[in-house]
Amino acid sequence: MQPVRTRIAPSPTGEPHVGTAYVSLFNYCFAKQQGGEFILRIEDTDQQRSTASSEAKILQSLHWLGIHWDEGPDQNGKYGPYRQSERRDIYQQHAQQLIEQGHAFYCFRSPEELEKLRQQRREQGLNPGFKLENPELPELEVKKRLSEGHPYVIRMKVPEHGVCQFTDLLRGTVEIDWAQVDMQVLLKADGMPTYHLANVVDDHLMRITHVIRGEEWINSTPKHQLLYEYFGWELPVFCHLPLLRNPDKSKLSKRKNPTSILFYQRMGYLPEALLNYLGRMGWSFPDEREKFSLEEMVRHFNINRISLGGPIFDIEKLKWLNSVYIREDLSLTDFTAWLQEWAFNEPYLTQIAQLIQNRIEVLSDVTNQAAFFFTGLPELAPNNFEHKKLKIEDTGKILQFSLWALESIETWSKQNISVILTNLAKVLELKMKELMFPIFIAISGNAVAPPIMDSMVILGPEMSRARLQHALTILKIPSKKQTKKWQNEFEYLKQLLTKSIPITISNHTK
Ligand code: GLU
Repeated sequence: MQPVRTRIAPSPTGEPHVGTAYVSLFNYCFAKQQGGEFILRIEDTDQQRSTASSEAKILQSLHWLGIHWDEGPDQNGKYGPYRQSERRDIYQQHAQQLIEQGHAFYCFRSPEELEKLRQQRREQGLNPGFKLENPELPELEVKKRLSEGHPYVIRMKVPEHGVCQFTDLLRGTVEIDWAQVDMQVLLKADGMPTYHLANVVDDHLMRITHVIRGEEWINSTPKHQLLYEYFGWELPVFCHLPLLRNPDKSKLSKRKNPTSILFYQRMGYLPEALLNYLGRMGWSFPDEREKFSLEEMVRHFNINRISLGGPIFDIEKLKWLNSVYIREDLSLTDFTAWLQEWAFNEPYLTQIAQLIQNRIEVLSDVTNQAAFFFTGLPELAPNNFEHKKLKIEDTGKILQFSLWALESIETWSKQNISVILTNLAKVLELKMKELMFPIFIAISGNAVAPPIMDSMVILGPEMSRARLQHALTILKIPSKKQTKKWQNEFEYLKQLLTKSIPITISNHTK
């Protein structure tokens, strides 16, 4: 029998997400329980959005949690490379093979033409699945256009009618109408594959036996299954895990709960506690105990015990579990070592000391100036944000726009924070002092604090952003309507924020 091989396949396009840790954990436990292997593959086919720093943070966070893989971009392995951007030729060959076998075709239509076709389908009330009538050009025409260097993509053929059935380990038979399924692009105009082609080709070549992933991929599975059939490959077992949810049952989102693993690290959660908590998302230990180690989870893991009701990621419960670990599992020496590692270490203290040395009279003043470097989310009330010129809506807008602007910073430095916020003040037609007021309160929770941009650098991006989000939650801003309006406005302003040149303000921004 083939050994069990599972994988996690993150796209390195942002912060390491707790959802990635959750799916990794279940893949890891499933494989290890059966003496199999767990692989990490980086899916960086979106060249525009993928970054090396995001990849590094994902790898570090998973290792920090104690999840280790047998093969991956930082390990040796028989089936590498484990980064899709290094496997381009493999996907091109496979796309060619599908063309030769008549399962895929060259598509030379321009984005404008395609948009028009989509529009027509919408107007005719047709299914959202995107299909082209007469998709293929005559062979000679294709040859001519290729030799003339016309841009093209390669699309897969998909049945027009009927029902696709596939088996999901937790759900049994799932049915999706083919009418809803796109003639998916497999190879993009830049020669890179889309997720669908790369994912299927790699899962096959890397001998993955069980594809265990988030529920959001269910609708893609018909295309994947069809690709396996086109290639004549044996299907893996598909298993879609329920999505993590906020306490109000909505899909876990950073507006309602911080989602970056680095935030939880920065808050002082212990990796064992966070991992244990994630293990309880939809799964329960056979004797229902709440506290268990990774090793115990592996030993007792049974994928059929996963319940499909959306598991709630509740920070209060996580906090409670973390307190149990602190009380029960740490000796005094361990506990002290954790405190040191967390924030009472020399590099961290040195950064703070540099900032406050000229601002205190006696050493005990340190707490007035710097306590907020050692807290989580500050205690705030709406009246902390009262200001003689700024109305509460202005304050909310500043906080929301700053948060969105800061999310675009790739390298967290004072220089980059300063350029973004200075430009934001300009486009919002505010004095820098006015823009910084609510940010100052949100970050430090206080009217007195050392320079706030330096402080944000020290606190790091996750904690800084979480504090801005927390302030917005306290202010109960923005409403749904405001969010829509502000998103549109911000979309327009965004391009202006990263340039360090004076900005001319158009009426549009007012
Ligand atoms: N790259 C996909 C992601 O970011 C992987 C999905 C899958 O596991 O198939 O989640």
